[in-house]
Amino acid sequence: MIADTTSETLGAIKVVQALSLHDMLEQNFLYQNTKSLDEGARSLKLATFLEGLVKVLMALVLALVVWRSSLLAIQKTLTPGDVLIFVNYLKTAFEPMRQITKQIGQIAKATASGERVIDILDYEPNVRDLPSAKVAHPFYGAVCFENVSFGYAPNRQILKGLDLTVEPGQQVALVGPSGSGKSTLVSLILRLYDPVEGRILIDDKDIRSYKLDSLRQQISVVMQDSVLFAASIRDNITYGRLGASDQEVERAARLANAHDFIMDLPDGYDTILGERGGSVSGGQRQRIAIARAAIRHSPIVILDEPTTGLDSESEYAVNEALKRLTRGSTTFLISHNLRAVEQADRILYVEQGNILEQGTHRELMQQSGRYAALYRLQNKSNGYKGAEYVLDV
Ligand code: ATP
Repeated sequence: MIADTTSETLGAIKVVQALSLHDMLEQNFLYQNTKSLDEGARSLKLATFLEGLVKVLMALVLALVVWRSSLLAIQKTLTPGDVLIFVNYLKTAFEPMRQITKQIGQIAKATASGERVIDILDYEPNVRDLPSAKVAHPFYGAVCFENVSFGYAPNRQILKGLDLTVEPGQQVALVGPSGSGKSTLVSLILRLYDPVEGRILIDDKDIRSYKLDSLRQQISVVMQDSVLFAASIRDNITYGRLGASDQEVERAARLANAHDFIMDLPDGYDTILGERGGSVSGGQRQRIAIARAAIRHSPIVILDEPTTGLDSESEYAVNEALKRLTRGSTTFLISHNLRAVEQADRILYVEQGNILEQGTHRELMQQSGRYAALYRLQNKSNGYKGAEYVLDV
């Protein structure tokens, strides 16, 4: 259980950060870890006691057998060979008992390793609240990048002096080659990282001036292959806004086209999902993730290839849900399928960390630049009917 929680939490660290679930999961982990440590200490004591007991027992029985069989050997009832074979059998018979006590020791050792995981969780993140940070007001959703540069490593810049202004409610699509920095750009809005240079503003204020939780609570994220947790469907949706009522959970699930399939499950909203959301299909997982996003009523929504990899049946239901989710919100959609972004208010063509072109689909096609070339290429090959979310304004 403790290993499940840890691997799930660390594996989904971006989602945990985006949903501000660290406090809740930390409490959960600490509880499980303390419980596991107590159990470990008890099993270690038991293992030591059992190991000692088995050794004493073996020695006693062995002494008894050697004494008795030696007497029998003297009386010629047994041969010395029989005595040796008998002692050997006895040792073999004791072996499983010795193994069991060893296994108990192993369990105790594994429990101690849990302590080391705590050290990882105690690690202080680079991104944290400034002492002067204030709780953010309800956002209108204006997002502005001012000369933003960023790199994961000091010697490798991913975003270079980026400027961008997005109006509240605007639907912006980011397209461009793989590795050009699209996901990195949107992760800076969530403050998963801070820019090395420049600043990002929401409603005209540097996002570092807001308390981290109050910033992230107003941003919803749906990624490709959404991460769900090994908990009930109800809990997974509630993770979008801790403390939400059952009615709110149901409303969010209806918006996400998820209510009907949830009700078809034998345990409905109480269905426990497997680790990382296993036990529901990819499309269903996405719709639960959309419900989790919808329950936040966020003024800013980030969609990172949310329908990539879905079959066309799931695609329709997910697309509908996404349209409802993004209505009225400032939206950032990352997509490799240019058909999916045609209707966006603004399309940004990103390459090597720069916005090389921007405008509506029509404007970019008239420019006849890289976007237009890529669009024609995708249409020509025409095999590209990816199950992508289509912005619809
Ligand atoms: P894709 O379309 O394939 O998702 P992208 O345009 O979204 O790509 P990013 O994911 O932003 O690109 O990655 C930009 C660059 O940063 C890539 O070279 C990538 O390898 C690197 N990168 C991304 N995340 C990290 C990270 N956590 N640590 C180090 N490097 C990273």
